[in-house]
Amino acid sequence: MTLLMFVIGACLGSFLNVVLLRDDWYIGRSHCESCNYTLQWFDLIPVVSYLLYRGRCRKCGKKIDVQHLASEVYMGCGFAAVGMYCTTDIMTAITLLVAVTFLCICAICDSKDMEISVLFLYGGIVSVAVLKMFHLCLCGEWIDLIKFIIIYGIVYLIFVFVSIFCKNHVGEGDFDILMIMLLAAGLYHTAVSVTIASVIGLCVYLPLLVTKRITRKEAIPLAPLLYVGFLFNLIGGM
Ligand SMILES: [Zn+2]
Repeated sequence: MTLLMFVIGACLGSFLNVVLLRDDWYIGRSHCESCNYTLQWFDLIPVVSYLLYRGRCRKCGKKIDVQHLASEVYMGCGFAAVGMYCTTDIMTAITLLVAVTFLCICAICDSKDMEISVLFLYGGIVSVAVLKMFHLCLCGEWIDLIKFIIIYGIVYLIFVFVSIFCKNHVGEGDFDILMIMLLAAGLYHTAVSVTIASVIGLCVYLPLLVTKRITRKEAIPLAPLLYVGFLFNLIGGM
């Protein structure tokens, strides 16, 4: 089950990466950016093709952006983590898969351009919120539904308020990412995910800071860290 979910996630990650990288993704078949060679099906097997050809085009040997592999692995691990965590509750699994997909898109965009489109941020918040409310309606838990709307409405307003005062300290999209995590997993698990993300961030960026490979003023993409934190939390049996 976990392996199947990884494969589905990796395929989706591969597709999303093409959509995010190429403006003309809906026209024609995938091709090599440098020699224009039209990729065959065996060039497009997520993760496997990249590793098999050692990250190079099969025809011209030009290096392929490692981001292709990263987004396939990111999304594959996300789906596998949900598969490991949810085996019985279908609605929770669907909500988490949608949350993971949007968080992964945000992570890819943030690590590529340090910029996340509001379409993905609000798309994630609205989709996860609607799924959660639908789940509560299905269970007939009307009081919980009203509580959900009031509590998360207030939390979102607080985030908007804080982000106005935190300009230049926290990226504008980071609060929206936190909101997606909160809606999907609740306060406790979001706090755990953020803690894990902070520890990973420290381990990755502190040595770079000490060796002066990055400066203190350099902006660090937080979305990939939050995504990895969220996945570790899922795998740990959220
Ligand atoms: Zn090529």
